[in-house]
Amino acid sequence: MIPFELSVNVMLHSDLHIAGVGRTAALIDRCIERDAQGRPYIPSTSFKGRVRAHYERLMHALGYDMKSCKPPAPRNMCKDPNNLCPACALFGSPVQQSRVEFSHLMPQSATEPTTRIGVGVNRKLNTVEQGRLFFYEAAPQTRIEMFTGTVRGWATETEIAQLIAAIQLITHFGGQKARGLGRVCVEVEKAYLKQNGKWEEPDAQTLLQRLKEVAP
Ligand SMILES: [Zn+2]
Repeated sequence: MIPFELSVNVMLHSDLHIAGVGRTAALIDRCIERDAQGRPYIPSTSFKGRVRAHYERLMHALGYDMKSCKPPAPRNMCKDPNNLCPACALFGSPVQQSRVEFSHLMPQSATEPTTRIGVGVNRKLNTVEQGRLFFYEAAPQTRIEMFTGTVRGWATETEIAQLIAAIQLITHFGGQKARGLGRVCVEVEKAYLKQNGKWEEPDAQTLLQRLKEVAP
């Protein structure tokens, strides 16, 4: 196993989560929080959860034995540290420490005037709900917002390739598609692997090529 770090870009297609003129839309429910400066971000827990879900699906599709592991309920996950499914082996389980660490996904640009972020107001209760964010549309527009973050850890080259593939399979954030953040494109911009004591930057495509070579 080797240390690695991935830099990840999440492109959010804002036209998909803005309602009609003059209307507010609850677009980022539960998966967006705000930092001390009031900037919106996607918490590391949401990021990790989404990547793990795709990693599990990918491993299953590649033919790996998932050992009847059914996260996220700990009682349904792998309990034998010597017999872990590939997801628990990398992301952790009640009996296994995670080998990957996810950062928050932070916005890259200041909020532009066309889309304003405010604290959500629940109209029925007429109260401001803590932590709920809404976008207010100023004008119909298509533009892309970008969030960036990192994933680092300790893994085999094969696991790193599978992790990159899983990250790039993410298509949305949020608990449910309809209530979530909306459609996103996720790309691993850079991958750094520490080999023979030196940080190398192999081409992501070269790493992904390994998926075909090692699938069981
Ligand atoms: Zn498991």
